[in-house]
Amino acid sequence: MTALDIRAARPDQRVRGGASDWEIIIGLEVHAQVSSQAKLFSGASAAYGGEPNAHVSLVDAAMPGMLPVINKYCVEQAIRTGLGLKAQINEVSRFDRKNYFYPDLPQGYQISQYQHPIVGEGEVEIDGDDGEPIIVRIERLHLEQDAGKSIHDLSPKETFVDLNRAGVALMEIVSRPDMRSSKEAGAYFNKLRSILRALGTCDGNMEEGSMRADVNVSVRRPGEPFGTRCEIKNVNSVRFMAQAIEYEARRQIDVLESGGRIDQETRLFDPDKGETRTMRSKEDAHDYRYFPDPDLLPLVLEPHWIEDVRATLPELPDEKKKRFMSAYSLSAYDAGVLSGDTASATYFETVAKGRDAKLAANWVTQELFGALNKMGVDLADSPVSAAHLGALIDLIADGTINGKIAKDVFAKMLESGDAPGVIVEREGLRQVTDTGAIEKAIDDLIAANPDKVAEVKEKPKALGWWVGQTIKATGGKANPQIVNQILKEKLGI
Ligand code: ADP
Ligand code: MG
Repeated sequence: MTALDIRAARPDQRVRGGASDWEIIIGLEVHAQVSSQAKLFSGASAAYGGEPNAHVSLVDAAMPGMLPVINKYCVEQAIRTGLGLKAQINEVSRFDRKNYFYPDLPQGYQISQYQHPIVGEGEVEIDGDDGEPIIVRIERLHLEQDAGKSIHDLSPKETFVDLNRAGVALMEIVSRPDMRSSKEAGAYFNKLRSILRALGTCDGNMEEGSMRADVNVSVRRPGEPFGTRCEIKNVNSVRFMAQAIEYEARRQIDVLESGGRIDQETRLFDPDKGETRTMRSKEDAHDYRYFPDPDLLPLVLEPHWIEDVRATLPELPDEKKKRFMSAYSLSAYDAGVLSGDTASATYFETVAKGRDAKLAANWVTQELFGALNKMGVDLADSPVSAAHLGALIDLIADGTINGKIAKDVFAKMLESGDAPGVIVEREGLRQVTDTGAIEKAIDDLIAANPDKVAEVKEKPKALGWWVGQTIKATGGKANPQIVNQILKEKLGI
């Protein structure tokens, strides 16, 4: 076993092949766009979109004589991310030129960090397939420039180039090959995303390409050394990642079981076909001819700066989850859902403040998230504010409405965005606790249903029908406890 190979295969992670079991080995290289107003080495806007070539300075266009100037804020974001990944921050790092020629790379090289990255070894905890937490080790995080974009589909004969992204700061976060299934790879990617979002160092917006992964996959028979890996480039959703891994592992197993061998190569995932295919083999691999960028001095961080950044770190998802479990007695599942992103956590804590936290968690995770999901609306655009949801829970707690009516009120809150108190008054939904009205409803029912009276005296279970009918007679508004009590008295059971 190599030093990297610390995780033993577990039986449930083995993939059945024709001849024997196989184990999948996965390591991810994630590109995360740094949240910053300006690019890594120029003052041009790093905003997404915009008119083509509107966010391009002379530096980004690589005009002769232009020199890069490091953006201190991007460096601080990389430090913050490193600290959030419990990683080593390297006080001295260096920028190198990675040379390749492509129309969307005007410099003819990408400024990146090769042998001396700003962040070294760290770790991310995820739930493994057997439910136990496991550590995915981070090998490094380095800063680099994004390239521009070639647009091939605007003209049959020409290619257009948009340099808006050229020079935008990326963090490349490289994991060790510590994942053993597509599910673990997805859990790692999602956890990484929620850490970056909590830190505010990457917005994690997948549609805008703010986070993309190169997925390295190999297979082996359990206990054997790692097999040759293939790298699947630029996968931009967790669903595609899972499909790509499953397809690629199966392909490799089939090759190996029919006596072939795996060649190290770069592959592309085709989401329409659900398969990976060769992009370039090792023989075509680029020779990047890395060398230190002579235009940039080594990056030297003052230790007190690192400590200043550390002092401002927010509570991270794992810590939040633990706190939610202990402070609010939530299940691991609910705590995980609610701590996964800052917006959900803040919303929940606003609702739970001074109220029954478990009840608050139920309303947020089940009713609210369920409804928003169906509507396809983000929490940020929820028609029901945390204050309003809290007020609804108060109306149940103080007996103004019962649980059943609360669901109706909630549906109306989703439609109208109105406060629950307003809806209850407007629609006359106050719970009937007036025993006179309830007694009258019961008397009417008894008079109309002599057979049911006889039945319930024999079978106390039949009381359910009486409770239902009484509440119905009050328009659903009767307090169930009071109904039960009066029914028992009047029916003599
Ligand atoms: P390179 O420098 O060629 O990109 P690295 O050794 O840095 O190669 O590995 C790149 C990625 O591939 C890392 O995320 C690592 O975890 C992963 N990786 C390395 N070996 C394997 C393997 N045998 N199977 C799956 N993934 C691997
Ligand atoms: Mg690599």
